[in-house]
Amino acid sequence: MVRAYVALGANLGDAAVALRQAVQAIGQLPLTEVRQFSSLYKTAPLNTDAGNESPAPGNDYLNAVAEVETSLTAPDLLSHLQQIEQGAGRERSYRNAPRTLDLDLLLYGSARMESEHLTLPHPRMMQRAFVLVPLAEIAPGLVSRQQLESVATQRIERVGKQADRCN
Ligand code: AMP
Repeated sequence: MVRAYVALGANLGDAAVALRQAVQAIGQLPLTEVRQFSSLYKTAPLNTDAGNESPAPGNDYLNAVAEVETSLTAPDLLSHLQQIEQGAGRERSYRNAPRTLDLDLLLYGSARMESEHLTLPHPRMMQRAFVLVPLAEIAPGLVSRQQLESVATQRIERVGKQADRCN
């Protein structure tokens, strides 16, 4: 089993429901168990193209990070995550378009790889408060204080544990 971290985000429809359903779907993947799920965080939309994350139009996002243990390979896990995204009705109308559900594979054990479809660790994770803050909540050893300080200008607000939102 490999420990992996998945970032979840949504900003269309009932985003809290979308994230809850997504983490349930991840837990039902073959050879995969969800070990931890962060709080939900409300975050400002960012243009993530440029490398220096800048504000973008649209609704706020809800974001969270899940820790999983899996015996799937990294490409297989990403492929399953993309199927879950498709099932949530994501439409890629244009880059950075609002999205029902976005799932990114952040870390897969200590794997480092760069292929056409998969780069690990996720290449932009260190620039994003919406990744680093929930990741630090469930895996504090993986995120340094300096890394958190480097994204401190990005707006992010904890809105409650996932369990709170389910009841
Ligand atoms: P996004 O629009 O952020 O969901 O980007 C999805 C695209 O990024 C897909 O074409 C993936 O194949 C590619 N990609 C590369 N590395 C990763 C990763 N670690 N996690 C998710 N998608 C990735």
